Amino acid sequence: MAIRNIRELGEEVLTKKAREVTEMTPRIRELIGDMLETMYEANGVGLAAPQVGVLKRIVVIDVTGEDPHILINPRIVETSGEQTGQEGCLSVPGKSGQVTRPNYVKAVALDVNMKETELEGTELLARAICHEVDHLDGHLYVEKVEGPLQDVSADDDEEE
Ligand code: ZN
Repeated sequence: MAIRNIRELGEEVLTKKAREVTEMTPRIRELIGDMLETMYEANGVGLAAPQVGVLKRIVVIDVTGEDPHILINPRIVETSGEQTGQEGCLSVPGKSGQVTRPNYVKAVALDVNMKETELEGTELLARAICHEVDHLDGHLYVEKVEGPLQDVSADDDEEE
């Protein structure tokens, strides 16, 4: 596995719609391993493939540091409630902003064996699922931010 270079706001790859994964290959397995390693190394709670320059519909999420989720071709199928809180992004380093998201989210996706799987969560996990799925459609949280972006110190916030 290897750490990949995280693309930052302003790079075109972050604005493009990612393509569905149709079959698991050794290259995609390697990409997923690299994405997990890159996310942990950057102290992130989620990472989407476009953030490492790959336009495939793959996200990794781990909001506790010991519960990794790998979602391929994820689709949000249910949401409820609302939460407003600070959000950050590994592609927008050093910044955070207030974003309103659903408080509960259920997603369906494929796992690494291309079998259908489900992930549901509330609070930070729900926020992370929404944030990462947005990346697959070329959207960044900064488009949804309420008020100004704020500066945060590098080690003080969770970033996606
Ligand atoms: Zn992000």
